[in-house]
Amino acid sequence: MASIFTRIVSGEIPAAKIYEDELTLAFLDINPASRGHTLVICKPELPSLLDLPPELLYAVSSTTQRVAQALTRALQPDGINIIQNNGAAAGQTVFHYHVHVIPRWNGDQAVGAWHPGRISAEEQRVLVTLLRAQFNAS
Ligand code: 5GP
Repeated sequence: MASIFTRIVSGEIPAAKIYEDELTLAFLDINPASRGHTLVICKPELPSLLDLPPELLYAVSSTTQRVAQALTRALQPDGINIIQNNGAAAGQTVFHYHVHVIPRWNGDQAVGAWHPGRISAEEQRVLVTLLRAQFNAS
């Protein structure tokens, strides 16, 4: 079964499209967090960031910047969040890679903040060792 976003790409399902090129599509989110909330997707149906080849990552990033610039010119927000969820535990509900571009205005409550924690020097050492080993392994 094709993802809802693949069906938007094909035109089977309507969407408020604002930009399209060979590899990417940008359209308004149907349940926006703020005015102008836009989704940028890669056209190939790949589930998450972890699955994208570099050329698709670049294409989505480039379109994301263009959308952010267009939203800034059109709506003059005070800021913009770029949010990208991978996996259900991270809040992903559509498993077709996409980036949220969310205009923000001073004082709005459009996006929740995380709760900053603490990290010990020992835990930093453990994590740095673990993660550096991953780069050396690849
Ligand atoms: P996620 O939670 O996966 O990061 O974000 C999925 C987003 O897709 C949600 O913000 C949701 O509102 C949006 N969405 C889901 N179905 C549709 C749809 O059929 N059309 C549009 N335009 N947006 C959708």
